[in-house]
Amino acid sequence: MLAVNRRTLMMGAAAVTAYATVRSDYVFAQAMEGPFKQVPLPYASDKNEPHIDKMTMEIHHGRHHVAFINNLNNAAKDNADLFKKPIHELLANLSSAPENLRGVLRNSGGGHANHTMFWQVMGGAGGAPTGAIAAAINDGFGDFGKLQETFNARGTAVFGSGWAFVVSDKAGKLSLVTTPNQDNPLMNGQMPIFGNDVWEHAYYLKYQNRRADYMKSWWNVVNWDVINQRYADAKAGKFTV
Ligand code: MN
Repeated sequence: MLAVNRRTLMMGAAAVTAYATVRSDYVFAQAMEGPFKQVPLPYASDKNEPHIDKMTMEIHHGRHHVAFINNLNNAAKDNADLFKKPIHELLANLSSAPENLRGVLRNSGGGHANHTMFWQVMGGAGGAPTGAIAAAINDGFGDFGKLQETFNARGTAVFGSGWAFVVSDKAGKLSLVTTPNQDNPLMNGQMPIFGNDVWEHAYYLKYQNRRADYMKSWWNVVNWDVINQRYADAKAGKFTV
């Protein structure tokens, strides 16, 4: 019993040390040099507290997302011409990429695009949608409450790792999709206006296995101003990621 207690204490100490390390060395944009860059978080890493904790944000932005960028930049060393293209063009034309590069484009390219979107659409105050997206949500889903209910249910039902997205077509018609792994809707000709990461790394520290609670809470941090801008870009043919 004593041994178990001591071990538990030691594990606790290790966790605290790990957290201290993350806090002290957390610097934005630590990705390796190359054509793909990470945009710094547009807000402090504790901005989404208490719904998404600071430590999760820092590990997620500073390690998980950076790993995708590093994979892309490594692949770009030997394929400079192809990787000069912006990520949204690469994802939209995945099937025309050389077969040996489709894996890194799908997984790390999709991961880079998904997370670039994800940081942008958070940091807000949640609440009811505003502007053009509010009307489009009513048109597409009935009302905001119905969208939330369906979005949360679909995201919770993703088996393993993936994403839930509200996507737009070129005419501005919204629909709801989920994708496995790091697949991005641009691979299917759809523009992800906003979406939620349902990989365990996005919520496990605070919510453990309670993905449904995380998804419900996430709506409190969405930024409707940014989402409206993304929706306007989609309709104007200016959408990137
Ligand atoms: Mn993630």
